[in-house]
Amino acid sequence: MIMAITFKILRFDPETDKEPYFQEFIHEPKPGDSILDALKDIRDRQDPTIAFRYSCREAVCGSCGMVINGEIALACRKQVSAVKSDVIIVEPLPNLHIQKDLFVDMTPFWKAYERIEPYLQAQGEVPEKGYRVEDVKMDRVFQYITCILCACCYASCPAASRDERYVGPAALAKLHRFIVDPRDKRTWESLKTMDDPTGAWGCDTVFRCNQVCPKEVEPADGIEGVRRKLVAERVKRIVRLKK
Ligand code: SF4
Repeated sequence: MIMAITFKILRFDPETDKEPYFQEFIHEPKPGDSILDALKDIRDRQDPTIAFRYSCREAVCGSCGMVINGEIALACRKQVSAVKSDVIIVEPLPNLHIQKDLFVDMTPFWKAYERIEPYLQAQGEVPEKGYRVEDVKMDRVFQYITCILCACCYASCPAASRDERYVGPAALAKLHRFIVDPRDKRTWESLKTMDDPTGAWGCDTVFRCNQVCPKEVEPADGIEGVRRKLVAERVKRIVRLKK
C-alpha cells in the first residue's frame, strides 16, 4: 500500500535566509523508490527550487551524501521503505558549509584530499611491459580503491568537525592505498606532511567513518596503516642516524 510520507527538508539560501529551517512536503513515494527518487519527485512536482547534488543514481559518483533521519547515507542507496517512518527528515552533510539546501561546499574535503598527493609516485623508468604486481599485494590495495569520494566519512568525523585543518578519513585511507601499493615509492618528505595532528595523529579512533562508509572502505583501518608507516619510517631514520 502506498503511504503518504512527510518529508522535512532542510532549506537554506545564504543569500536570503538568516538561518536554516525545515520545510515540509507530503509525498507518496512509489514502491522501491530511494530517498533520491523521492527528492527528485518533490522537486519536479512541488518545489523546483530545492537544491541537492546527484548524478549516477547508483552509488558510483558519490554525489548524494546527506543525513536521512539522523543517519549519514547516499540518498540513491537508501530506500524510503528502509527508513520505516512516515516522517523523513533530510539534512545536508555536516562538517561542510551549506551552499544551498542539501548542497554543501566540498572545498575543504577536496583541499584535504590534495594534501596527501593522491597519485602514484613511482621512481625510475616505467618498465617496458608495465609494472607486474603480485595478486596478494594488490589485494591489500583493493579495499581502498573502492572509495567514491562521497565525503560521508568526513561528514561523520568528530576530528574534522573540531578542526578544519584535519585531512579526514577519506584522504588518509587514500594515502594508505598508495603506501601499500608496491609501485609507490613516495619519500619521507611527502609522508611527513601527515605526521602531525592535522594528519594521521588527528584521528579520534571512534570508527564512525567505518560505520557510515557506503563502500566498505573502512577508512579507520587505513589511518592505522598510515600511523604504522610513519612510526616505522621514524624508527628507520633514527637507526640510520646512529650508525
Ligand atoms: Fe565515501 Fe567511504 Fe570514500 Fe569516505 S571512504 S569518501 S565514506 S566511499
